[in-house]
Amino acid sequence: MNNNFLQDTFRRQLTNAHALTVLTISLFEIIGYIIFVNLGIEQLSLQNNYLRIKVILPILINVINHIIARILTNSSKLKRRQKNTIIIVAALVTSLIVAVFHKEYAVTGCAFVFPMVLSATFNDKRLLNTCLFSSVFILLCTLFALRYEKGLNLTSFLNLIVLFGFSIISYLCGIVSINFSRNNSSTIDAQAQQNNMLLDNVQRDQMTGLYNHNAFYHQLKSAIDDKKEDEDLCLAVIDVDDFKFINDTYGHDRGDEVLLTLSKIIKKHCSKHDVLCRYGGEEFAIILKHQNISSAHKKLLSILNDFKTQNFFFTEKIITFSAGIADYRDGLSENDFFALADQTMYQAKKEGKNRILKA
Ligand code: GH3
Ligand code: MG
Ligand code: MG
Repeated sequence: MNNNFLQDTFRRQLTNAHALTVLTISLFEIIGYIIFVNLGIEQLSLQNNYLRIKVILPILINVINHIIARILTNSSKLKRRQKNTIIIVAALVTSLIVAVFHKEYAVTGCAFVFPMVLSATFNDKRLLNTCLFSSVFILLCTLFALRYEKGLNLTSFLNLIVLFGFSIISYLCGIVSINFSRNNSSTIDAQAQQNNMLLDNVQRDQMTGLYNHNAFYHQLKSAIDDKKEDEDLCLAVIDVDDFKFINDTYGHDRGDEVLLTLSKIIKKHCSKHDVLCRYGGEEFAIILKHQNISSAHKKLLSILNDFKTQNFFFTEKIITFSAGIADYRDGLSENDFFALADQTMYQAKKEGKNRILKA
């Protein structure tokens, strides 16, 4: 599961939570209004304005706010970061609506704290900074609004100071949380990288760096499974001729040198589509994806020519190999496919070595 997937899931859950919040607030507004009316608070029952301005209007704005946020967060045109911002702005708007319509400035605290907590969860420092600036802006607006309405007394001023403190504390908590999760994710990344390296090490032959025997079968199976109906797939099996003689005459180290040289030549002639393997001992295999048997044959010929013209300092003798190439036929398992190429290679040996045969 990557971070993007987690963010998308979390954003979807947040959008649903926002819908639930809007629904709950709307229910509270209506229930509150009904209770007030039944309690016979005359002012309210008579003032139709209360119903319109303090109940219906905020519910309407909240619902529209949620619908817009939902449409935008589902849009394929917006980037992930923009979508995250939208749902946070929607949460901010919802808290502000309650605060503004009921002149309940203590609720404004929610408008600061929730968006900051959410920004931290999205691991977005820029969004967190925006939340801090908007919270300071909203506080200043509230301060001026209270002064304008002549409602600014010591208590409301102290309330605003407390809210400002809330906003700073939430910001600092957000920063700590973002730093913590960034450190955490870089540790996880480093571990994943180390795991990949270990896995790669297990799959590689130490001397040549090519895929080893086990990895070869795994790669061959994947190549067969991934192959589309009209795609070509070939397999070449290479075996150095008279290698035992080289070992016995010049020593094991010289033998190793020959194998290393051959592996380098194979790498030089192959593309990134080719999967290069050391099947075992002096035997190599190349999985040739998207190549028909004649182009695979050409590639093998150029490898053989290059190998034959190497000047090994310890011998004047020309060192050669024999190879068999098979093209994939429907229904072959990886073992059958290998056997076909391997039998063709043995046929090349029988026919006098130093040659490449097609199945
Ligand atoms: P052919 O032409 O029929 O293939 O004969 P060959 O001598 O090449 O084949 P054979 O199977 O008789 O000998 C292969 C030798 O390769 C035997 C083994 O000791 C040697 N060998 C296997 N792995 C290594 C290795 O990693 N390094 C070296 N130097 N020799 C190896
Ligand atoms: Mg052999
Ligand atoms: Mg051999």
